[in-house]
Amino acid sequence: MIKNEYEVVILGHGPAGLQAAIHAGRAKVSVLVMGHPEKSSIYKAHIENYCCLSHISGGDLLKQGREQTLSAGADILEEDAVEISHDGDFVTVTTESGTSIRSRAVIITIGVSRNSLNVPGETRLRGYGVSYCVDCDANFFRGRPVVITGTGSSAVSGALTLASYTDTVHLVAEKIEVGDALYRQLSAGSVIVHEGRKIGSIEGDQNVEGVVLDDGTKIVSDAIFIELGAKGAMELAGYIGVVMDDDMKHIVVNRQQETNVPGIYAAGDICGPPWQIAKAVGEGCVAGLEAAKYAKRFRLKEKAI
Ligand SMILES: Cc1cc2nc3c(=O)[nH]c(=O)nc-3n(C[C@H](O)[C@H](O)[C@H](O)COP(=O)(O)OP(=O)(O)OC[C@H]3O[C@@H](n4cnc5c(N)ncnc54)[C@H](O)[C@@H]3O)c2cc1C
Repeated sequence: MIKNEYEVVILGHGPAGLQAAIHAGRAKVSVLVMGHPEKSSIYKAHIENYCCLSHISGGDLLKQGREQTLSAGADILEEDAVEISHDGDFVTVTTESGTSIRSRAVIITIGVSRNSLNVPGETRLRGYGVSYCVDCDANFFRGRPVVITGTGSSAVSGALTLASYTDTVHLVAEKIEVGDALYRQLSAGSVIVHEGRKIGSIEGDQNVEGVVLDDGTKIVSDAIFIELGAKGAMELAGYIGVVMDDDMKHIVVNRQQETNVPGIYAAGDICGPPWQIAKAVGEGCVAGLEAAKYAKRFRLKEKAI
């Protein structure tokens, strides 16, 4: 049964949100987790770089995290927040079904969505050679030909990382926009650069077999890494004046995971790269403990009155 008031409300049912809930719940404050598990970035991934669990599916990881969250005493509501506002010493979160829930502290762990290329083959072959994360998937393509596309530093440094796994890395970029030092590193290395070109389509039956560029050039490849940066769900943060980074993509936090707004914390991918579970759960742990500490201050205040 979902209540209309909690001490800590967590927006996001991914690794950051669940870890925050486990720690806040065990610190004995009332906790609500909102969000949809199947919308977590990790839901369909296979993970092999998360400490102590060498092979696990994202779905199984989230299922176990959900059970731990419920055991820690938290409630779960599978709805998104559509608005946040301040109401005296409370923060009010409005859900997608129109319910208002008050809370002393809110932790934003809403993740980021990857920008897509929007070319034929991309959606069909996602997870079958189409990847949005070099750090996560480079190892699967060790020694095999790969393509990476994007114009900024994430694409160029991603290409250099891939070159340490395999001899054949193609970088396809309309225009390379990076600083001199990174450009020099790229020029000095083995990456085959196709500047001024775009990906026209991704080819393959069951798995990626190659890409076709906009001028018709075919590149044989077992994977394509799409590194176009990410867009975050910024509107929520904007409602209550939470400060974002210069690109307006990530929430700025300190080492306590506090934002500039008292009582509002953030953790996980929404706080910036590396977009990895290990970072998300670490930040979630800190945010959960800090938000619980913050919320408990109001108990003392109420006792004193
Ligand atoms: C294909 C793929 C493979 C990956 N593989 C790996 C890997 O092997 N290893 C690794 O470490 N990392 C991997 N990652 C990265 C990893 O998934 C993320 O770093 C991690 O999921 C971040 O956790 P998070 O909790 O910050 O966000 P997410 O897991 O993305 O969760 C965000 C949550 O916020 C919720 N939400 C969104 N908007 C709202 C709202 N308005 N109100 C309430 N809730 C909201 C969503 O429903 C979701 O539940 C991979 C990512 C992708 C896309």
